[in-house]
Order: sequence, then C-alpha cells, then structure tokens
Amino acid sequence: MIDITKYDENNVFAKILRNEIPSKKVFENDFVYAFEDINPQAPIHILIIPKSKYCSFNDFSENAENNSIGDVIRSINKIVKLLKLENGYRIITNVGTNGCQEVPHLHFHLLSGKQIGRLVVT
Ligand code: AMP
Repeated sequence: MIDITKYDENNVFAKILRNEIPSKKVFENDFVYAFEDINPQAPIHILIIPKSKYCSFNDFSENAENNSIGDVIRSINKIVKLLKLENGYRIITNVGTNGCQEVPHLHFHLLSGKQIGRLVVT
C-alpha cells in the first residue's frame, strides 16, 4: 500500500529534484522537471514532475492554486512541442494503490515514439 496522504521528503523524485541522485533531463522550467523513465515502456517515456511537493494527482488537483495547475499543464504542452510529438502521445498519472502508483510525488508519464497500442488493464 503506497501512502499518498502526506509528502515523503525521501521519495526518489524528491531526491532527483534535490540532485541527490542522477536523472536524464529532458526539460526544466520554473514549474516542472522532466526526465527519462529508468524503465521505459515506449521509445519515448518521459516523466514530468512538478517542482512543488504534491503526493499525487489528488493532492495537486485539490490543493494547488489554479495558476500552478495551469503552469504545470502548459509545461507539459511545451515538452510535447519540444519533442515534436505531432503524431500523438499518451499521458498517464497513476494514483494510489489501485492505480499502481509507486513513487509518491505527482508525476505524469508521457509515452510516444510509436503507435503505443490501446490502453490495457490487467
Ligand atoms: P508510477 O508507478 O506511476 O509511480 O511510476 C513510477 C515510475 O518511475 C516507473 O515508471 C519507474 O520506472 C520510474 N522510476 C523509478 N525510479 C526512477 C529513477 N531513479 N529515474 C527514472 N525513473 C524512475
């Protein structure tokens, strides 16, 4: 069971943001940091994380200011343009135990690079 009720300062993405462990940066601005997933599920598999501390999409959508939500969503759009994903892509955010969330810092998976198939739930 993952705990997404309070922010864990020692989660792996918090460590990446603090530069305590390495990551392959794709993009960064004042609002988000984007880097390659260590276990890619598609030719392009980027993780996009807000620099602010949110455990999950629940936390973000309930507690972030409207401006901050806009800044993060528009940053995702910037990355899509940077990577020239005009043929499409998929964005996923897993929430909690049933969503199979492993890291308790909000992250969006950006998947592309080929036609990635229909969404499959096992
Ligand atoms: P989720 O299951 O939605 O929480 O996804 C967590 C993702 O983080 C997985 O796709 C992992 O492969 C990825 N991941 C875990 N540790 C690292 C790391 N140090 N660098 C890059 N990606 C990571």
